[in-house]
Amino acid sequence: MCREKRIIVIGGGESGAGAAVLAMKKGFDVFLSDSGPLSEHYREMLESRHIPYEEGGHTEALLLSADEVIKSPGIPDQSEIVCKIRQRGIPIISEIEFAGRYTHAKMICITGSNGKTTTTSLIYHIFRQAGYNVGLAGNIGRSLALQVAEEPHDYYVIELSSFQLEGMYDFRANVAVLLNITPDHLDRYDYQMQHYVDAKMRILRNQTKDDAFVYWQDDPIIKGELQKYHIESRLCPFSLIKQHGTIAYLKDGRYEIEYPMPFNMEQEALALTGRHNVYNQLAAGVSASLMGIEGAVVERGLRGFKGVEHRLERVATVDGVLYINDSKATNVGACYYALESMKAPTVLILGGKDKGNDYTEILPLVKEKCRALVFLGRDNSKLHAVFDSLGLSISDVHSMSDCLEACRREALEGDVVLLSPCCASFDLFRNMEDRGRQFKEQVRKLIHK
Ligand code: ADP
Repeated sequence: MCREKRIIVIGGGESGAGAAVLAMKKGFDVFLSDSGPLSEHYREMLESRHIPYEEGGHTEALLLSADEVIKSPGIPDQSEIVCKIRQRGIPIISEIEFAGRYTHAKMICITGSNGKTTTTSLIYHIFRQAGYNVGLAGNIGRSLALQVAEEPHDYYVIELSSFQLEGMYDFRANVAVLLNITPDHLDRYDYQMQHYVDAKMRILRNQTKDDAFVYWQDDPIIKGELQKYHIESRLCPFSLIKQHGTIAYLKDGRYEIEYPMPFNMEQEALALTGRHNVYNQLAAGVSASLMGIEGAVVERGLRGFKGVEHRLERVATVDGVLYINDSKATNVGACYYALESMKAPTVLILGGKDKGNDYTEILPLVKEKCRALVFLGRDNSKLHAVFDSLGLSISDVHSMSDCLEACRREALEGDVVLLSPCCASFDLFRNMEDRGRQFKEQVRKLIHK
């Protein structure tokens, strides 16, 4: 007797639960399995739709009876259950791949090592300004699968991590944006940079001549990779300056897009500051233009964008001092770009869980831009070893309230206090969001002091 295709979803977070909902709707025999506990929200999502699931462990025999497995991006390929599924020859795909089968919407996909969330949110914002029926998906917002199942859109703007890209085979991005490639997550790629690069380049798969590839022209790794591929889609490189082929760049204080709809605006009017955000804004403007959005609307979007929480987020000015939350800067590269964009003397908050950082990259900038340093971490010894020689005033603190006290002492009117810590947050905080929110809370307390 012919039975329904059995789809097993492993991982019951946003993407897994969404995939299970879509699979159920499409009439598959679906089962979701999570090695840990599900959150109340996802449990309710599954139960209200009568989707069978297990939590707190995998029933191996059941998982190995699948015809196809949808794996959440958080589950490493090296995990025991994934290895067993592979050994059986059962295909493993990502939630994005699965959802892509059930929609004809236009897909604008963004990847890169840094800047994904900012650029994705900005493109989404511009599409909304244009009145498009658009969904935000991938690493942010609700899962693509859930939206395809229950709230379909004509366009999706999707943030893709390398892990999601790995599970994608037939999916096609109408606009593929590749912002940059620098080392990241190498622990999940056998410490082989090329494996990580290969995953990022998968964003080009299945693109046709009707599609577009938007990328940073000056990225040395992307440049090298492009030699290896035969690319069908329209190449749309962006750069700070116009070179051969560049279609979006800065020129004489103006932000310029040449293709497909020529348009320019004053650079000063861009909502996001910092060189890294120029790249993000060039990529976003080109993507919007490629989807038919007029220059005037793109400009309105670029001017009015409020930014994303924890990314160079202006919190408040207290006693003439501007406080900026860049808690998402969990590596040295991100802090570099943040510091570079500071225009006033800066009190910089550094520290947290060090991931093997090499701080020498930011030493000259710290010397040039900083009035004082505040080290916020359980163990600040490595920071002292690097920065003490600069002769700046340094405070050691172990809580956010002490941190803000120290900043207030050090900062003079007209200065900036910047939380851009270069490190993960897990030594003193639950995560980088918790660190950023505590920072903002303490800044607000200063207002009332
Ligand atoms: P992602 O989603 O890729 O982690 P975010 O948009 O959340 O990227 O930004 C993370 C950090 O990376 C920010 O704090 C910012 O300082 C830095 N950053 C943002 N865009 C870029 C870029 N284009 N190049 C380099 N660094 C960037």
